[in-house]
Amino acid sequence: MADLDVVVVGAGFAGIYAVHALRSAGLRVRAFEAGSGIGGTWFWNCYPGARCDVESKDYSYSFSPELEQEWSWSERYPAQPEVLRYLNHVADRFGLWPDIQLNTRVTAAVWDSADSVWSVTTDDGVVRTARFCVMASGCLSEYQVPAIPGLSSFRGPWYHTSRWPREGVDFTGLRVGLVGTGSTGIQVAPEIARDASQLYVFQRTANFAVPNRNATVDPEAERSLKARYREYREEARASLLGVPVPGTGRPVLAEPPQDVQRTYMDRWQRGGGMPFLGAYTDLLVDRAANDTVAEFIRDRIRETVADQSVAELLCPWAYPVGAKRLCQSDDYFAMFNSPNVTLVDVRSSPITEVTPDGLRTSSEFYALDALVFATGFDAMTGALARIDIRGVDGLALTEKWTAGPRAYLGVATAGFPNMFLVTGPGSPSVLSNMVVSIEQHVEWITACIGHVLGGGYTQVEATAEAEKAWGEHVIEVAYSTLFPMADSWYIGANIPGKPRVFAPYIGGVGPYRERCDAVASAGYEGFVLTVSLRFLSREVGG
Ligand code: FAD
Ligand code: NAP
Repeated sequence: MADLDVVVVGAGFAGIYAVHALRSAGLRVRAFEAGSGIGGTWFWNCYPGARCDVESKDYSYSFSPELEQEWSWSERYPAQPEVLRYLNHVADRFGLWPDIQLNTRVTAAVWDSADSVWSVTTDDGVVRTARFCVMASGCLSEYQVPAIPGLSSFRGPWYHTSRWPREGVDFTGLRVGLVGTGSTGIQVAPEIARDASQLYVFQRTANFAVPNRNATVDPEAERSLKARYREYREEARASLLGVPVPGTGRPVLAEPPQDVQRTYMDRWQRGGGMPFLGAYTDLLVDRAANDTVAEFIRDRIRETVADQSVAELLCPWAYPVGAKRLCQSDDYFAMFNSPNVTLVDVRSSPITEVTPDGLRTSSEFYALDALVFATGFDAMTGALARIDIRGVDGLALTEKWTAGPRAYLGVATAGFPNMFLVTGPGSPSVLSNMVVSIEQHVEWITACIGHVLGGGYTQVEATAEAEKAWGEHVIEVAYSTLFPMADSWYIGANIPGKPRVFAPYIGGVGPYRERCDAVASAGYEGFVLTVSLRFLSREVGG
């Protein structure tokens, strides 16, 4: 008999809910978390300025109406400490701690076909067996520092935003270099600029950003939301992005230009990225339509930044709006009006080396006391690749995915029975409000495991045919949009040598949920369920 029914890898939003859901289904569960605390993204990314870009009312669990009523968010867009407090509250409230083991990294998971169990090894050297493995290891948990020659020679401290010292960093009076201007860089830069004597922002690609207009939550608005929260959550589940976004429902190119400007300005003043992207139906599929919003944002940058040569450098041209995560900040562009902030274009003059005293580009040397990397993640597959996962006949997952990740519905991959991925490649995951997507996956996986065990099966495995057909659908949908026009981490472009495959599913969380539900209703169509009595096996379904 296996030691456990289910091993869960990771204790972020996904792992925490997986422990609760699977345990509530009567299963013996254990989650292993590499960090010294739970929270995943919200544990690790404790850099100053870290904040949600989805509103707190949306970026929260919906599985418990009681939790939903009891918890009050203080801000429209919660900062990292508040999200982390929330997740710890969830673990306390549902008594999850006994089934979560911190400071423990899963290093290997090997499928034993004879006994239909996974052998899971952790970095404390212990091996446990489990009937199922749920990978809740995160789409954005494997951080990356670029291989810049000389970095180890740097005399000052250097940090990656995703491994920020918990005690904080005092930059007072220091010359600081920041590499990276994605969502993270844009959040952390104004915080560093507040204290540093000089901040050099090394920008390779200019990014679009819209305001947050963050504010404290109005108690009256909270009361009225809570009165209809269930209904609101249903709207979120059926929506495209996992957030109900009121759009005009019309294509922008058929709209009078002055109305378009009014709509964009209204959304600019209200704040938030999703309302922009959802304003018109053609923004993410038609380049000319997208140009209208791109030019609107560039105009706001030109208005905000006093030095027009700096403003032009900050204006993004390299990709359509939304094809990379639309950043949000209330103070990033204005920060460049401060005399202690310098924008350095490392597209035209690339970084060549780090020396003991600073950073050199192909045209200049910058003397620095500290360096900050906001250089992102080996997204979608990085955390899984770090685990030695071996399926049927010892096949390594990394080997199977040499040409890019393949997973049926983004939740399971052929050749790896009884292993589930939460928000894996091929699911809406990072293109949605992730909490909605995480809950949907965890609930679907829990029901699937219940079906397997309830039916007396020992094994469930995605078929190669179903996986192939789903993969083709994911790519077809992606290439009917503007998303592949960006060199983004969605397509693996940020990691040298990574195969370029568009990983997330753009079809929308509502339609995706319907598809997953239909698969389950049809007896887990596209999966093979097997009873393994060692010699006698019976195949059904598929
Ligand atoms: P994670 O939170 O990444 O948790 C995975 C956990 O698994 C980590 O704690 C990691 O330590 C652990 N782990 C990984 N491998 C192993 C192993 N081998 N053994 C043991 N433990 C392991 N999404 C949104 O929808 N809205 C936002 O506003 C938003 N903001 C974000 C801000 C930042 C700075 C980042 C980086 C991401 C943001 N995201 C946002 C995406 C965010 O990652 C998800 O919303 C969500 O938090 C993911 O939860 P998760 O549990 O799937 O993964
Ligand atoms: P990212 O979007 O991948 O941005 C990384 C940045 O580092 C980019 O500007 C990139 O430039 C730059 N970079 C990487 N290597 C470089 C090199 N060798 N030289 C110069 N520049 C280099 O990573 P991120 O900002 O951490 O965000 C990742 C994702 O996390 C986001 O897309 C979002 O989904 C999530 N997130 C959300 C929030 C939020 O607002 N809630 C906050 C942070 C993160 P190029 O663009 O040229 O590659």
